[in-house]
Amino acid sequence: MEQYRAFSTEEAIAYAKELPDRFPSSASLHAEEIGDGNLNYVFRIKDSESGKSVIFKQALPYVRVVGGDWPLSLDRARIEALALKLAADACPGLVPEVYSFNQEQALIVMEDLHDHLILRKGLIAGKRYGNLSRDIGIYMARTLFYSSDLYMNPVEKKARQIQFHNPELCKITEDLVFTDPYWDAPSNNIPGEIRDFVEPFLWQDEALKREVAILKHAFVTKAQTLVHGDLHTGSVMVTDLGTKVIDPEFAYYGPIGFDVGAMLANLLLSYCAQPGHRVDSQQTVEYRSYLLQTIEEMWLYFEAEFRRLYETETTEPMAKTAGFYDWYIQQILQDAIGFAGCKMIRRIVGLAHVADIDTIANTEMRVAAQKQALAIGAALIKGRQQATGIDAILAIIDTAR
Ligand code: ADP
Ligand code: MG
Ligand code: MG
Ligand code: MG
Repeated sequence: MEQYRAFSTEEAIAYAKELPDRFPSSASLHAEEIGDGNLNYVFRIKDSESGKSVIFKQALPYVRVVGGDWPLSLDRARIEALALKLAADACPGLVPEVYSFNQEQALIVMEDLHDHLILRKGLIAGKRYGNLSRDIGIYMARTLFYSSDLYMNPVEKKARQIQFHNPELCKITEDLVFTDPYWDAPSNNIPGEIRDFVEPFLWQDEALKREVAILKHAFVTKAQTLVHGDLHTGSVMVTDLGTKVIDPEFAYYGPIGFDVGAMLANLLLSYCAQPGHRVDSQQTVEYRSYLLQTIEEMWLYFEAEFRRLYETETTEPMAKTAGFYDWYIQQILQDAIGFAGCKMIRRIVGLAHVADIDTIANTEMRVAAQKQALAIGAALIKGRQQATGIDAILAIIDTAR
């Protein structure tokens, strides 16, 4: 096999021509790089005559950040390809099909979701998606259940855990989500307008930092299941009625609540951003209530499917003990609420922000959204242990807004 090289568009086309049964031999192929260029290359390769296309996702051996480069393992492409295959088995139709994987080139060849839009963009545009809460609820329940100790043979589970040894990507999360936002770290990207607010609000709140330390500890030690690890609204692609989850390169054995919390956080960041994107306040109110309804339904679909799988497919004998499930689902919810808070905060003060908030042109509205996200985030982290149902989130938001 040839040595790794980051493909040019010409090299991507040459590789695509060699793929068995993908394009007619006479095809004249065009390639376009459509990724955002931070971690990976994403090429769309298309035969304009037949209209057939594929996506190439190739990992780069480094992360480009402001001020310098840091090396990053190419093994994440293997992890992503494997996680996509497991998800396809657990919930057919909710991930793009992987056609082939080339380990040497850290390259995934997959289905082109050409008619899908990144969910984050749809939410910024104020679109509604009729099946989103069901599809993501089902995706989370099935992927998270089938790799857990509730379902897997314990020896096979530990073998799978080794396959998903992903220390460098976990370290990114440990630093950027759970550590750097809570001190004056050079990696932070704090909007100038809220700098004075951040110091007392985050850095001097010892009670908050203690809870974040506990959540970080859960992230690094709680090997409950194979999680996606980066399940934000930029990792979901949608049509009016269809949903696909992409980009599981951060997959590792971690807490179930980490994925659930990522979705909650990103829907709540959208919630905070809405006044900056809607022209009239009635639209804002209505769209915000749609987002809260989506959060609630997503949890209810997740919980119903997870419970069904637990009742019908649990193999772990001790997990069938009376009272165990109620404890188990409650710790998922409380973890999810806490992780959601951490993920909201890091998107305001940490290295990588979200377009929902950064694209608000009006400074006053953008700052209001940033402060509201910090307030809701901190309230979620501190209030999670009282939560017994999803309505707890709505109550916490009420107190913070
Ligand atoms: P990264 O890990 O660098 O964030 P992603 O997997 O999120 O890469 O892909 C980056 C972008 O490429 C996505 O936001 C989406 O626009 C596009 N993309 C990725 N996978 C597909 C696909 N299978 N079909 C169509 N577009 C895709
Ligand atoms: Mg990206
Ligand atoms: Mg990624
Ligand atoms: Mg991505």
